[in-house]
Amino acid sequence: MKLRAVRSGMEHAARAPARGPRRRRRRRLVGLYQALRDAFGPQHWWPARSAFEVVVGAILTQNTAWANVERAIANLRAAGALSPQALRDLSLPELARLVRPSGYFNIKARRLRAFIEHLWRRHDGDLRRMLRQPADRLRAELLAIPGIGPETADSILLYAAGRPVFVVDAYTRRILARHRLVSPRIDYEALRALYEAHLPHDPALFNEYHALLVRVGKEFCRARPRCEACPLRFDLRGRPPRRPP
Ligand code: SF4
Repeated sequence: MKLRAVRSGMEHAARAPARGPRRRRRRRLVGLYQALRDAFGPQHWWPARSAFEVVVGAILTQNTAWANVERAIANLRAAGALSPQALRDLSLPELARLVRPSGYFNIKARRLRAFIEHLWRRHDGDLRRMLRQPADRLRAELLAIPGIGPETADSILLYAAGRPVFVVDAYTRRILARHRLVSPRIDYEALRALYEAHLPHDPALFNEYHALLVRVGKEFCRARPRCEACPLRFDLRGRPPRRPP
């Protein structure tokens, strides 16, 4: 992780010329990042040994805790199934059995199978070739695969393909809405665009920022927020967090 480069990029972003609300918003987004980085340090995401494992993890992590995904990936590794070819050779029932710890295992097995079939149909099973495409084309291609939504597609773009795409999740929306930076009803694309419009397009920065938001979301910004101990408390400026609508 190029933390020094990330730091200087963010300091530059905080000083870059802009006016009025846009400048204030950018300063706050940079301030949130710096406070999280100072509180938690590097997060070393994504926890995977290969780009293919990132793809598998991004599909399996839908609607479940990461600890469950780790158990499913451990099953796939023990079965020697963590490659496009090996996964393709598994029957659907066997694949579902291996990913059972991640929950919704029949659905997720079908989603993995849909990705693998697409990979063979369009790229002869060559993941590197698929990930080398221009980001816009790759994103459109991923979103056309059944079971891959924007968060999963952007996780693959950022963490497997190394593209400067900001991954948004429920924690991102909750934290920014509670801090009155966005509406609680803001949609995925608008929230992603907000980050990408205000920060340097640096994959290392987007990698770290998303991981830090997940960390603070899990530890502090839960359904009942723990603001008194949270490293982002300063940004509330003495006000209580905004309540959901
Ligand atoms: S817990 Fe409170 S201070 Fe921390 S991110 Fe959530 S709303 Fe902000």
